[in-house]
Amino acid sequence: MDYEAVIGLEIHAQLKTESKIFCGCSTRFGDKPNSNTCAVCTGQPGALPVLNRKAVEYAAKAALSLNLNINTTSIFSRKNYFYPDLPKGYQISQFDRPFSEKGTVDLETADRDKEGHIEQWRLKRINISRLHIEEDAGKSLHEGMPESATKSYVDLNRSGTPLAEIVSEPEIASPEEAYEYLTKLKEIILYTGVSDCNMEEGSLRCDANVSVRPRGQKELGTKIEIKNVNSFRFVREALEFEIERQIDVLESGGKIAQETRLYNTNEGKTYSMRSKEQAHDYRYFPEPDLLPLVVDEKWQAKLRAALPELPEVRRRRMISGYGITEYDAQVLTSRKLLADQFESAAKAAKNPKRVANLVQSELMGRVKAKGIEVEQSPISMQGVAMSADLVERGAISGKMLKDLYDLCFERGKDFPVVYQEEGSPRQSTDTSALEKIADELIAANPKQVEQYRSGKKTIIGFFVGKLMTASKGQANPKLVNDLLTKKLES
Ligand SMILES: [Zn+2]
Repeated sequence: MDYEAVIGLEIHAQLKTESKIFCGCSTRFGDKPNSNTCAVCTGQPGALPVLNRKAVEYAAKAALSLNLNINTTSIFSRKNYFYPDLPKGYQISQFDRPFSEKGTVDLETADRDKEGHIEQWRLKRINISRLHIEEDAGKSLHEGMPESATKSYVDLNRSGTPLAEIVSEPEIASPEEAYEYLTKLKEIILYTGVSDCNMEEGSLRCDANVSVRPRGQKELGTKIEIKNVNSFRFVREALEFEIERQIDVLESGGKIAQETRLYNTNEGKTYSMRSKEQAHDYRYFPEPDLLPLVVDEKWQAKLRAALPELPEVRRRRMISGYGITEYDAQVLTSRKLLADQFESAAKAAKNPKRVANLVQSELMGRVKAKGIEVEQSPISMQGVAMSADLVERGAISGKMLKDLYDLCFERGKDFPVVYQEEGSPRQSTDTSALEKIADELIAANPKQVEQYRSGKKTIIGFFVGKLMTASKGQANPKLVNDLLTKKLES
């Protein structure tokens, strides 16, 4: 039988406010355990939360960039459960009246044939059901401490860090799509600057819900939750494993039990963590210590107007504006800083299209060949702009530029440095030597001269080529062209 997977993803993104969501403690990562704590974030009796306006602003920016509608009024709720890193015995979250609802992320997905080969790419819209605001819990440390063999330690520095929880509809059809969705989402959030989305430091975390069903069946299969996977690659791997596992169970006549599983990255397998019987009943109720959160339209409009141009829009604009390919636009816009650097260099240069062209034809290939990211390129965007201007002015030839770029990559140095190290070379504009060669060429090739003079003007390319070769690529092609035209016409 043919099966299909149904996947929904829940992302927790830490909002990078300087202080926590309900107190003034620092959110800095890596400080001494429990040094950034107070009565509020350690859950002392009688301590009262005060909402951090910046956290709401950041959540709003994330929501708007993902096309979510922000509810004018939302409610904070207590999510009750016991855990050592949650001293209050509840997490302040949002439940039935979340901060924002109904957003979208568009991604490109591949239709594949039975062997998995890509048949065609198409646009797919994944709906986001909600983005709500909540506080993070602390951390339990089970290793690396003096008495870790017999004790667990609790660090409450993270307790009370603001989070945006982003929940997709179960509309993702494959592990590849899940990967693509996560990549797009992260890219958009990074552009807004409200989270650094650093998975190693846990500022972006992902839970995945996955079920399988016979293709075409309406009702969903029993879903499994995979908790806390800490890289996009692992999310994809965990889903691949889990889909196979569920199909195997069904094929052998078994039933899927609803449960939460953990992914073991070393083994590439998921393991049962708790079954449905052990699942939490969180007994949500409205947080009595906080007023309903009211976000007025005016403030929303102000935030919306201040949103940066988002990656997809920027990509379209750069493709048409600079005449670069889809792929290069993708690379250049994948991070906002890189796109900003590229555009400021292009704008500062005499001919922006030439900068785009050099990035595309000379820089990207070398970057790829070296197996590095474009940010690690020894030639900066300003370096590309400088080289573009030199070519534009006719100071160096295309051939010289290629050689200089090679040297930059060999030496790991930026273009201006290498250009200076090489003695600021200039292409030959001394025409006397070129004229001499041109005269010789014309004398030696009467047949081609005859063709030119009888109207076959394109034959000039034959002479230009010969002359460029004779000058070892040092001559300015335009100069060569002008000079030959003059001689052939006379
Ligand atoms: Zn605190």
